[in-house]
Amino acid sequence: MAEIIDGKAIAREMQEELKVQIAELKDKGVTPGLAAVLVGDNPASQTYVRSKEKACERVGVYSDVRKLPADLPEKDLVALVEELNNDPKIHGILVQLPLPKHIDESKVLLAINPDKDVDGFHPVNVGKMVVGEPGFLPCTPHGIQMLLIRSGIETKGKHVVVVGRSNIVGKPIANILLQKKEGANAIVTVVHTAATDMSYFIRQADILIVAVGRPEMITADMVKEGVVVIDVGINRVDDPSRERGYRLTGDVDFAGVSEKASHITPVPGGVGPMTITMLLHNTVESARRTLG
Ligand code: NAP
Repeated sequence: MAEIIDGKAIAREMQEELKVQIAELKDKGVTPGLAAVLVGDNPASQTYVRSKEKACERVGVYSDVRKLPADLPEKDLVALVEELNNDPKIHGILVQLPLPKHIDESKVLLAINPDKDVDGFHPVNVGKMVVGEPGFLPCTPHGIQMLLIRSGIETKGKHVVVVGRSNIVGKPIANILLQKKEGANAIVTVVHTAATDMSYFIRQADILIVAVGRPEMITADMVKEGVVVIDVGINRVDDPSRERGYRLTGDVDFAGVSEKASHITPVPGGVGPMTITMLLHNTVESARRTLG
């Protein structure tokens, strides 16, 4: 039976460490500040921004949430980003995606000063990640790397198979674990819809990272004995036995795969709590850099 990689506990531990670092920065006259920009009234986006705001409060990061109407002209949003770029109280800017259709997301992301791009989506930070220079790593993949490191899982020389190639999870985690660095140095394969037989690759994985968005797609017969499984998926599936009518499930059949895996992340409580933690981490890091 697999050992559970407890993302909640690791996130809590990291947030406690961040609290200490924030207190030290405050002693030096710097309070880390995060601005969150929310355009429109997408309920999921509102929930994400609210939970980021709460996390800031919990650890002592100053939080500035800007809620704007769905019909905000693109130029006004770019102007707001520029105002935040120039605000010394703000060390991190996040623009909650998706944006309304009339706004060009890439134009807005490009307007963020890369030194305040704590989501790690600006092309300057993406480029730094690929060549292995310090910048800001995107939060979900960075959180996955921290889960592996803090669970004592060796990645050097291991075959990591990533299923999914999105710009926010699949591609960046592949790049991060490929670096010739501590907590990385892996042999990486990325699988996607063009694979005619994805099981062929998945069966070879020492570490399997799944970010696909398809409930319980990975089953026990597809993985090898002793694999480490990181399940990034968050899917809502109908469940009339629950009061709210649904339950959350990952991309991996947890019950079956945990019989064969050596380690596995649960959903919820695995990768999810790490994403916000790494956003706080990047904001604190950005504030620290202002001290030189
Ligand atoms: P995405 O942008 O929808 O990308 C999904 C990827 O999976 C694509 O590259 C797609 O391949 C691949 N894929 C889909 N079906 C496949 C199949 N049958 N076989 C092989 N590959 C397949 O997804 P995402 O944004 O990375 O999100 C993935 C999941 O992670 C979602 O459930 C999302 O909610 C969750 N997520 C969680 C967190 C967190 O904090 N825990 C953060 C981000 C995302 P193609 O490129 O070939 O189409």
